[in-house]
Amino acid sequence: MIIVLFGPPAAGKGTQAKRIHEKHGVAHLSTGDMLRAAIAAGTETGKKAKALVEAGHLVPDEIVVGIIAERITAKDCASGFVLDGFPRTVNQAVALDTMLAGKSLAVDVVIVMAVDEATLIKRVENRAAETRAKGEPVRADDDPETFKKRLAVYKAETAPILPHYERQGKIKRVDGMKPMDEVTAQIDAVIAGVKPRKSWLSKWLTG
Ligand code: AMP
Repeated sequence: MIIVLFGPPAAGKGTQAKRIHEKHGVAHLSTGDMLRAAIAAGTETGKKAKALVEAGHLVPDEIVVGIIAERITAKDCASGFVLDGFPRTVNQAVALDTMLAGKSLAVDVVIVMAVDEATLIKRVENRAAETRAKGEPVRADDDPETFKKRLAVYKAETAPILPHYERQGKIKRVDGMKPMDEVTAQIDAVIAGVKPRKSWLSKWLTG
């Protein structure tokens, strides 16, 4: 199964994607985590991405599309994957459709986590305070001003993807304002209702 977990920054996508990975046996693909790992390792991609990520801007489409195109060829993606933080632009959504179609695959469901803006800002402030209290460094892009920039980028660049998936009838909404376990329960109910797509081979065999 191929799941897109969609929502604004700090909606809780990372936490829920991890749970989906654990419960449903699909790989967890977070472009944010992959970019942070590339930055920490000082790779060419990391060098290109560092300043953009830290300022709350998007990394160019060709970089993240390349990362995902390569990642989905790994063995652990064979039984499916949940995308967390990708696609983030209409171009990325179209590129994803194209790369999946090349493998006779498609996104099965887009789970939208709805959380209001004031709650998101509060969550990030709390997350930063908790991290500081543990004596750990706060993510540069979790600084309140940078976070507001990320929210603006979400509204301008990422939210416009929704009509793309509405047209495909793939959107399912969950209430991301609820406590974490309730959100998980809503997501599990959505996943339970998704009919697995027939692969081209079984379609060809069974008609
Ligand atoms: P995240 O951890 O998903 O909030 O991502 C952190 C940052 O990584 C974002 O603010 C962007 O700078 C960058 N990033 C992650 N995913 C993407 C993507 N699909 N397209 C462009 N930039 C991304």
